[in-house]
Amino acid sequence: MPIQSFIPPQRTLMGPGPSDVSPRVLSALARPTVGHLDPTFIGMMDEVKLLLQYAFQTKNTYTMAISAPGSAGMEACFVNLITPNDTVVVCRNGVFGARMIENVQRIGAKVVVVDGTWGRAVDPQALEDTLKQTPQAKFVAFVHAETSTGALSDAKVLCEIARQYNCLTIVDAVTSLGGVELKVDDWGIDAVYSGSQKCLSCVPGISPVSFSEQAAAVIKNRATPVQSWFLDQSLVMEYWSGQGKRSYHHTAPVNSLYALHESLLILQNEGLENSWARHKNQHDKLATGLQALGLDFIVPENERLPQLNAVYIPKGIDDVQVRQFLLNEYNLEIGAGLGQFAGNAWRIGLMGYAARNENVLLCLAALKEALAQ
Ligand SMILES: *Cc1c(COP(=O)(O)O)cnc(C)c1O
Repeated sequence: MPIQSFIPPQRTLMGPGPSDVSPRVLSALARPTVGHLDPTFIGMMDEVKLLLQYAFQTKNTYTMAISAPGSAGMEACFVNLITPNDTVVVCRNGVFGARMIENVQRIGAKVVVVDGTWGRAVDPQALEDTLKQTPQAKFVAFVHAETSTGALSDAKVLCEIARQYNCLTIVDAVTSLGGVELKVDDWGIDAVYSGSQKCLSCVPGISPVSFSEQAAAVIKNRATPVQSWFLDQSLVMEYWSGQGKRSYHHTAPVNSLYALHESLLILQNEGLENSWARHKNQHDKLATGLQALGLDFIVPENERLPQLNAVYIPKGIDDVQVRQFLLNEYNLEIGAGLGQFAGNAWRIGLMGYAARNENVLLCLAALKEALAQ
């Protein structure tokens, strides 16, 4: 058989990302490709910046989208801000905090870890205790929404503590952006990164980032160039900045940026607060249904992420068999456990376009049938 066009099945995506992409976003993606320095495209990029400023609730000039997935946004924040002489305090309560630690280590900087329980929010007191004993610390990094466990940390309080100890903050908002309250300026976040494929419900492969004036100054005043040429934000900004001339840095993923533009526009039309409320309402419905099926949440109620529902797999139930049943019989994808929870938890995403009545009902009905078998 000769190789033929790839026609993917129509799945419902309720895992940890990518999430269901809205048809509006998919059709934006299919519009004609223009040059990445075409004046019309540059105008659209300026709108993407405005829409991202709205989504992040920031006036930061240094707000743009990195042409690569969330992990690249993470790496961009770390390699641009941190140099080998720095000390960075990293809070770890799941897989993505651990990745932050690796980023710091690869730069050759000193990392001090605040270890927390997986499935719980970061403990502000533990951060403060560590900062008291680490006067040389320059940065505090933490994950707002830990997708590996479903825990939501209090970013506002953690940033306040960091500021008291004169530290700049690096915040992972990959899963939080659009799904729960996030206020970059009000909370004083200095560097934040997200991803296109979680609560923005865009195609994967783009990472929105934003840097405060203070963080931008740190980047500008570096004594040594950023070790990564591709992620060097001082170069990328020359392409993304609106000051008349734009210079070629790399070829932007033109069509993916159409898709991001559309997904951010959908978010703006709905309104951030409405989007946060929708995620919470759908989560409440799903949580009631899951508990009626006898499934227990990993995270205590007041620390739960609405957009990522992590539940223990009941004793005697086969993880892989259930997920295969959902996929084969209902075209429904849910997430497996990650890290400490591999094999003993499911992660059910309600992200962006997926946070709808239809999806909640489908998931509960399909899981009920799977568990009964
Ligand atoms: C998904 C995710 C990432 C990584 O994003 P990719 O787009 O997969 O590179 C980082 N942090 C968190 C919290 C995530 O959920």
